[in-house]
Amino acid sequence: MLTIKRVPTVVSNYQEEDNNEEKQETQLGCGRNCLGNCCLPVSNFPLYAFKKERKEACENGVVPTSAKTDVSHISFLSLLLGHWEDRINRGLFRYDVTTCETRIIPGQYGFIAQLNEGRHLKKRPTEFRIDQVLQPFDENKFNFRKIGQEEVLFRFEQSNDHSSHYCPSAPVYSGSSPPNVIAINVSPIEYGHVLLIPRLSDCLPQQIDNKSFLLALHMAKEAADPFFRLGYNSLGAFATINHLHFQAYYLGSLLPVEKVPTRRIITMERVHKRGVVVSELLKYPVQALVFQGGNTMQDLADVVAKSCITLQNSNTPYNILISDCGKKIFLFPQYYAKKQALGEVSQEFLDTRVNPAAWEISGHMVLKTRKDYDGATEEYALRFLAEASLSEDRFQEVKAYVLEAAGLQEVAMDNVNKEDERALCEAEPSTPTAPCFPKDFMFPQEEFQLLF
Ligand SMILES: [Zn+2]
Repeated sequence: MLTIKRVPTVVSNYQEEDNNEEKQETQLGCGRNCLGNCCLPVSNFPLYAFKKERKEACENGVVPTSAKTDVSHISFLSLLLGHWEDRINRGLFRYDVTTCETRIIPGQYGFIAQLNEGRHLKKRPTEFRIDQVLQPFDENKFNFRKIGQEEVLFRFEQSNDHSSHYCPSAPVYSGSSPPNVIAINVSPIEYGHVLLIPRLSDCLPQQIDNKSFLLALHMAKEAADPFFRLGYNSLGAFATINHLHFQAYYLGSLLPVEKVPTRRIITMERVHKRGVVVSELLKYPVQALVFQGGNTMQDLADVVAKSCITLQNSNTPYNILISDCGKKIFLFPQYYAKKQALGEVSQEFLDTRVNPAAWEISGHMVLKTRKDYDGATEEYALRFLAEASLSEDRFQEVKAYVLEAAGLQEVAMDNVNKEDERALCEAEPSTPTAPCFPKDFMFPQEEFQLLF
């Protein structure tokens, strides 16, 4: 068994509590206002219901159309950030991330360095098993059913119609589905750092499935701001909690990985015509696949989820960045933790205790000491990230089986005739320029309605 010693990030204020408390599952309300079977069924939370895509089935709809009323414009992101700031005022975070120093590392990539001295203090290192991407859910370990309800911002469910709704208080089991929960990360690395926990009471282990990934894309789309991104770390790629969750935060600047050029992989769709375009990164220290397009959001989600499932089944750890409001997804297979366990990572990187998880790989370096922060250079960031990348040969192997699983077949450029090539070039999705919205900007959304 391969393990590494790690000081796990504390994502909830309940994480360090004794986990061996007596279970009171049958009693309603354990007195802690947690998210377990004791308290959840008798709880009310705010509910944000996102609008259904035109082509999506409505079987998951939870909000009765008859109950809604019109409201003026409120955006999902404003709501989320407003609730998040409320939790700052209530003193729920372990430190104030808004006072952490940040700078752009000079160079052509624009790596973003943050000095965050509060994130990894006051905890004993724990042994993490890093050689298994798929591990069963273990209710005796910390999981999100143990967090306090004050850490929850709101539920995030699909509406049963084509508009979004917000309800300040709704009983949890008003619908039949287990709740999707958005909660704060009490050790934030940026403004608005939250966790999306799909179907919380289903106790899903940390592994991607189609439905959960589609939910994450919906959250990115609903935020409607390219500076609000979601990330995902698999087990073995620096996830520390084996309970399905995505992370998300607001960072008002393009990440280095979002700026590098990509090369489209010319593919044929063998079965379904989903219209998803796959590319690989050029001139970036970490090999990655980039997914864009798709006839619907479901198409894009299905192709990426299939790719992730293939990586999981072949025990390949990976990270994901959901970018551009859910329209662009970066998939980074990696073996850094395994190399670390085998003693193959150079000491200078181990000394910084920085792990290449989704945010770091995307170019947002969260550094733990003043010395590392002041001394960070582009050359250092490039070498550090290169340690996390698969080798070229290994990446080509992984790419081949990922494409295969996604129902795509790579076509050699020699076999593409000139006319097809021109069509492909024209179809290439363009990189959007990210607008910079002020923090309290309200997005005009004609279809937005409030449910009471
Ligand atoms: Zn409870």
